[in-house]
Amino acid sequence: MIPKTSEEVSNHLYTDPSEAAEMAEQHGSTVVLKDFLTRRIPPVLRLARLAVCLACLAVTAQLLNRQSVAMTGVSLVWLSNGFLIGVLLASRRPQWPAFILLGLFVDVMVNMVLGDPPGPALYFGLCNMVEVALGALLMYRFVAEDPDLTQVRQLGSLMFGALFASSVASALASTYISFHGGRPFTHSFRFWFAADVLGIATMTPLYISFHFRKQFSRRSPPETILLFTLLCVVALGVFRMTNYPMLWFVLLFLLLLGVRLGFTASAAGLLAVTFIGGYLTTEGFGPLGRTFIGPLEAPVLIFQTFVALSMVALYTTEAAMSVNQRVMSKLSASESRFRSLAEASRDVIVLTDIQGRRKYVSPAVTEMLGWLPDELVGRNDLSTVHSDDVPKMIEMVRALRNGDQPSPLAYQALKKDGEYRWLESNSRLLLDDDTGEPSGFVFVVRDISDRRAAEEKMQEAFRAVELQAMRDGLTGVANRRLLDQTLRSNWQRGARDHTPLSLLLIDVDQFKAYNDLYGHLAGDECLRRIAEAIQTVLRRPQDLLARYGGEEFVAVLPSTSGPGAELISEIFRKTIEDLAIAHDVSPHGVVTVSLGCATVIPSIDKGENSLIQSADAALYRAKTTGRNRTRVAGDEFVIN
Ligand code: GH3
Ligand code: MG
Ligand code: MG
Repeated sequence: MIPKTSEEVSNHLYTDPSEAAEMAEQHGSTVVLKDFLTRRIPPVLRLARLAVCLACLAVTAQLLNRQSVAMTGVSLVWLSNGFLIGVLLASRRPQWPAFILLGLFVDVMVNMVLGDPPGPALYFGLCNMVEVALGALLMYRFVAEDPDLTQVRQLGSLMFGALFASSVASALASTYISFHGGRPFTHSFRFWFAADVLGIATMTPLYISFHFRKQFSRRSPPETILLFTLLCVVALGVFRMTNYPMLWFVLLFLLLLGVRLGFTASAAGLLAVTFIGGYLTTEGFGPLGRTFIGPLEAPVLIFQTFVALSMVALYTTEAAMSVNQRVMSKLSASESRFRSLAEASRDVIVLTDIQGRRKYVSPAVTEMLGWLPDELVGRNDLSTVHSDDVPKMIEMVRALRNGDQPSPLAYQALKKDGEYRWLESNSRLLLDDDTGEPSGFVFVVRDISDRRAAEEKMQEAFRAVELQAMRDGLTGVANRRLLDQTLRSNWQRGARDHTPLSLLLIDVDQFKAYNDLYGHLAGDECLRRIAEAIQTVLRRPQDLLARYGGEEFVAVLPSTSGPGAELISEIFRKTIEDLAIAHDVSPHGVVTVSLGCATVIPSIDKGENSLIQSADAALYRAKTTGRNRTRVAGDEFVIN
């Protein structure tokens, strides 16, 4: 595995020295620098670094706001608790006690250095650690997994954690102060609470952002520097100018900073304003400073309220913006997901508007039909459909519009080279997301030319097999099976339409003798020639010649009257005689046939076999009256 993130790189550094050396060579000093800045430094050094940070923050807060401390007993904003909460959120819970103990130690030391006796120093330190532990516990579940304070749940947990933890610590501290003869409970509570809420709500996001490297990601460094400089200049001007109260100007620039640079910048901007404005206000400058008429503490409280309200405005704007952004990025992610699906598919995907004009055609169309997608977009979807298939296509679109789901449609589409290919289209109606009205169609089109060709081949083969099963092997005319089917269907049709049906039974004369004289093979050849000759006489497609068995044939002549059948029968007889196939045993010297001819208007109560029987009887008479002649069945069957 090739490590990508700094954490992966540092994990490697700690697990496999040879790989680490290789990695360091590849990445040069970046690995070492990142390693130092992130977590992988020895624990003692890490704790020392944290102690220095906490001490600096505590001292900074005290010194920068020494007037506020003098007026109210507390700093304007207490930074180190929020910072420590951030540290806890970025580490695993078993490490918390060590960090909290360290925080307590630093706090007590700073308090004592700044003049508190050991007892109160320890007590206030403990108050701070209660606040840190409570705040971290309340936020951990929401923030630690995937820190993004612009998400409503995480922002909610930050604000609730800040308010709740600060109020508990403030209550504990203020109780102590009032019991030991200091300022009254409500006084201490107010200022302690406000300073700690501001500190947590700004420092915790700042720490988390820097730790997880999500800070200032939206804009370029020059813009970041410019906007911060502007904000600081504006804050300096507004809080220094005593005659013109223009606090809203600061809020405006804070909002600009937040909108352009994001959540972390908002927190940093608020902190900058707190320092600049807080310092100047408590030094007696600006709209809240010396000009304010009222008790001494009022400027501090009003200033803290201003920062708190600005924070609410800023953070809620950030949360609202990030909701929008998440929706947009989800949309664009799903758009690109579907686009890549469409573009990877071998099927062609076509989107049209409700008039059928193409809005999107996937690239697979080039392989399928030779067109480039751009050549088809904007044109009507029927433009490439074969004219034979246009009505089917229109019908399908109509069905879609009516809310039906038509089955897949096979049609021929024009290729760029002018040929046509068989395609199959699955279609759906698209509804507008907002109005629910039909807004267009989606077609998923598949090339089925090969499938159709294979199907046609199979059908041909099937037809050939079927034909084979219906033909007589020797002569190629219909066999008994086809004869039975044809006769039955013609019988039924005749019965329905009351049209005559004729049947000729044809028997070769003295064929046994022929066989005996010329041999069986010659007999076969003779039968073949007879069948062929008779077949050429039958011109109408509905007529059928079949081999009835042995040297007997049957001709079925639908819609043929008695005289017509008799005429055809005579033509048959003459045709065979004219073939002049030598037959020395026959009195005619050539092969001849005798024919029995029957015609009837079929009726349902009689079967088709009755017709064969009549023809057979007529044939018998032809045989007994001299052969080489036609005899017509008895009067009761004949149609004149
Ligand atoms: P008739 O004039 O009374 O019809 O006399 P015939 O000899 O034709 O009648 P018969 O029914 O006695 O003989 C039919 C002969 O046809 C018997 C058989 O050898 C011959 N035959 C039947 N089927 C075939 C065939 O497929 N090939 C050949 N070569 N001869 C066949
Ligand atoms: Mg016979
Ligand atoms: Mg015969």
